[in-house]
Parts: sequence; structure tokens; C-alpha cells
Amino acid sequence: MSVFLMTMLLGAAAMLPVRSMQIQLPDDATVVMQRVAEIASREITERADVEVSREQRADFTVFLATDPALLREGFAVADALGGNVCITGSDAAAVLYGVGKFLRTSRYTADGFVPSGWRGTSAPEGSFRAVYAATHFNNFYEAAPAEEVSQYLEDLALWGANAVVAHFPTWNFTGFDTPEARKNIEQIRQLLLSAKKVGMKTGLIQCPNQGFTSAPEAARAQPNRDESRRRGNMGVNCCPSKPEGRAYLEEVYARLFDEFKDVGLDYLICWPYDEGGCGCAECAPWGGKAFPALSKRVAELGRAVYPNLDVILSTWLYDLPPSGEWEGLDSLLQQDYGWLNGIMCDDHFDFPRYPLDRGVPAGLPLYNFPEISMWGRNPWGAYGANPLPSRYEGLWRQTAGKVSGGMPYSEGIFEDMNKVVCFQFYWNGDANAEDTLREYIAYEFSPECAGDVIDAVRLLESAWLERGAKSVEAFKLLEKVDAALPAWARNGWRWRILYLRGLIDSELAANGGRMEGAVLRDAFDELTRIYHAENAHAPVKPPVVD
Ligand SMILES: [Zn+2]
Repeated sequence: MSVFLMTMLLGAAAMLPVRSMQIQLPDDATVVMQRVAEIASREITERADVEVSREQRADFTVFLATDPALLREGFAVADALGGNVCITGSDAAAVLYGVGKFLRTSRYTADGFVPSGWRGTSAPEGSFRAVYAATHFNNFYEAAPAEEVSQYLEDLALWGANAVVAHFPTWNFTGFDTPEARKNIEQIRQLLLSAKKVGMKTGLIQCPNQGFTSAPEAARAQPNRDESRRRGNMGVNCCPSKPEGRAYLEEVYARLFDEFKDVGLDYLICWPYDEGGCGCAECAPWGGKAFPALSKRVAELGRAVYPNLDVILSTWLYDLPPSGEWEGLDSLLQQDYGWLNGIMCDDHFDFPRYPLDRGVPAGLPLYNFPEISMWGRNPWGAYGANPLPSRYEGLWRQTAGKVSGGMPYSEGIFEDMNKVVCFQFYWNGDANAEDTLREYIAYEFSPECAGDVIDAVRLLESAWLERGAKSVEAFKLLEKVDAALPAWARNGWRWRILYLRGLIDSELAANGGRMEGAVLRDAFDELTRIYHAENAHAPVKPPVVD
């Protein structure tokens, strides 16, 4: 049954512009509530010339409060005396989701801030709505200043994201104590700490048989059987069926959990391939035998430090030939599933049929992992924003009603639009991708340009796999919008990556795909600066044009 409720929708901007506003908190406001108020203030003052205060009386007041009577993670936006507004949430994080709805339906004009006329209540259907911040390849999450990444995570929480999950890439380092590894761990710690500050949960996603480059030879795995050549290999997989391999992996993962003791971890997501896997006779079939068994052991190590750790087992690339992994997992979990809290499933292409047709093993909750980063272009994100709303809506509908949330695969900020589309599906399974983008565009750019930007996104999506006349047409629309945007929006990174996408695609469509010339060089340079991709690995670094 849907728990999504919306009682009364008056439409945005029913009120007059104000020049000053007060955000009032309860006397016993928690640290998270204080942060919610700071975020609201930051978002408003970035967009309009308004004085926002916590103490001083003003033209307009927003009262923030928690109300445990609301549905879990739900919020309410209601009228308050004197034409003011009260935003309540079932907890402090839910207040932030309500603030997000309020901010997106407010308006920011030359005359000041126009408070939203949206009134109603809403609660999420999906319980797990995680941002996967892949901190590797020197991508945005690894290379950008932690404060900048933290602000981005807060932006996603405004859309209802309730967890941040990071990955420590052991394969990139010789051990825990090298300067490079310490830097990576410190970045992850900062991101997870900032997530906690807004009430989000935190987690790690790891291939449990992956070691450091210094892993002893006796611990190493045999290569995966990989007839389709899709299972990946970062070069340091270990075999949990060998005593040396098992002992080594237990030592690595016990230490990894220790590294985040002061932050606290809520989730562990165990990953089978892309990194990971062993092709030896004892481990096979990996996904139906050694992988779940090792994940269970690593879960025990995690729970020794974090007793309430939720463990989710991914089935990424299960049942590529040779198959039998789903059946193997099913039969293992029939005997013993108490250690597991959910199953994650997805693919580069259509959603896998097994859990849809035959049910989720042990009846566990199912979470998706939409591939929003790498689809259709390489280097990923190198050409600017990659909005693909129709694609992700189509994939979402394949799972209708069977998925309880998920974790979009993210390599940076270029798929920002795809993320919010996914987070709104997790919130409300019946959401419409175009409505989500309309709300995004109104908030991040301008409500007046929503129609043109939607048209441009539609054209860019249809020309994603092959640039052509539609790319040129899309850029004309973006140029028209660019001239009309307020400066805060025009200079913001969200607009710049969309505009540059249009510019690059249009230029390449017109010049026969030649990577040359000052226009492209400047565009790629700007994207590199926005992504902090100066030292990025090839998959996430925009091309260099001389
Ligand atoms: Zn093995």
C-alpha cells in the first residue's frame, strides 16, 4: 500500500515576495536541526537578496519542528499564524526533506523570496535511498574538497536521499598506511561525518575478496570465468577458500571497519564483481557459493564493531554464463538468511528477470542500482550533464512495486539530474520523471525556462548515442535559456554542465566529430575544473584538446 500522501496542493508562489525571513527552531533543537536551518538559509540566500535570520523577527517566518506522529520519514508543510509556515518532520532528517519540498516550490525573484504555497504531507515508500559516492579514479568524490562534496550530499538529502555509501578501493593502494590510502580514508570519513550531521545514514560498499596490491601470492584468487568479458578485474582478488586468502581478507576487513569507529556505519553492501570474484573450483559458482559465505563472515566482522549494521548483498552481473548463481544463492539463503537485510540487483541493461519472475531469495527486500554514470559514453561525464529521464523511467517501470529503494551508481556530479529522478522514484513509485525534472529546473535554473530546458533534455537524450541535428537544436534552446537566466543560476555548476553538454555535442555534430579547436578545448577545460578532474583516471577525465 502506498504511504505517499499529498493532502492539499495550492501551487507555488501563492504569496508575495519578502526581503527578510526568520527560521525558527525549537529551544531543544538538535545538531541535525541546526544544520537543517543552516542549509535552508544557504539555499535561499544563494538565490535571492533576502536577509535570513534565526533570532530576528522578519517579514516571514518558517517554523521547523519534529512531530513523531507523522509517518516514518514523512513531513508536513502547513500554514502557521500570521501567514507564516510550519515544516515538521517525523525526525530531523525528515524536516530536511520537507524543507527541500518547500524550497523547490518557492520562487526567487528580483523582488525577493516568494515563499511556497505548497501545503500537504508526504512520506517515502522506499526505505533505502542511498547516494553511492564512489571515491576512486580521482573522480569528483575523491578529488574535490570535502566541504564541496559534503554540500553536494546535503543537496541530495533535500531530494530525500537518506544514506551515503562510500567505497575504499584497496586495489589502488599497497596498504592502509600509505599516504595515498590515508588521504582516501580521510576523505571518506569527512563525507560520512557530514552525512551524519544531516541525519543521513552511512555505509561502505566493498567486494569482500578484494585485497591490496601487496596481497601475498598464496592468498590470490584464480581469474573469474568470464565468457562475456563483463565481470571486470582490478587485479587483486583473493580466494576465500584458501586458508591464506581467508586469513588475509579477515585481517583487511577487520581493520577497514575499525577505521570508521568514530563515524559509525549503518550499512555494508557486499559486491560480487567488477572487482571481486574467484574462479577456483571451491569458490564456484562465486555468486551462489563462496561470495555469500564470505559476505556473511565479513558481516560478522562488521557487526563486531557496529552491532546494528544492515547488510545488503548485491547480485551485480549474476548469471552471466556460466550461470546458476541465483539458484545457488536461493538455496543457501533458504537455510540461513538471518544475517542479511536485503538484496541489491540491477544490470547495465534491462533489470534482471530472476527476482521479478521467481521472487527475491528468502523474501528479502529488493533494492536497485541504476547505472546512471557509464551508460552510452566514455569517458563518463566527460561531455557534461547526461540527463536520461526516459531511460531511467523505463527501467523503473520494469520493477513496478517490487523494489524498496536503491542506490544509483555515481561517479560524480554530471548525473545530478538522473540522481534526482531516481530519488523521487524511491520516494513515490508513481512519480513521473518529467515532473521531477520540471521541479528541479524551476529550482536550480528558473521556472520560466522549464519548458525549453525540458525540450532540450528530451533532444539531448534522443541524441545521446549518436549526435546529430537534434544536438544542434538542443543547444539553440540552451543558448536562449542562458541569455534569460538570473546570474546565480547561469553561473552555477548545474547549469554550466548542461550548457557545456549542449555546446560540445552541437560542436561535434557540426564538425564531423573531430576533437579539435578552441571551443571544445575551453569546454573540456571548464568541465575538468568543475569536476576537479585534473588528476582523474581516464574513465572520468574529459578529453584533452590541443
Ligand atoms: Zn577461490
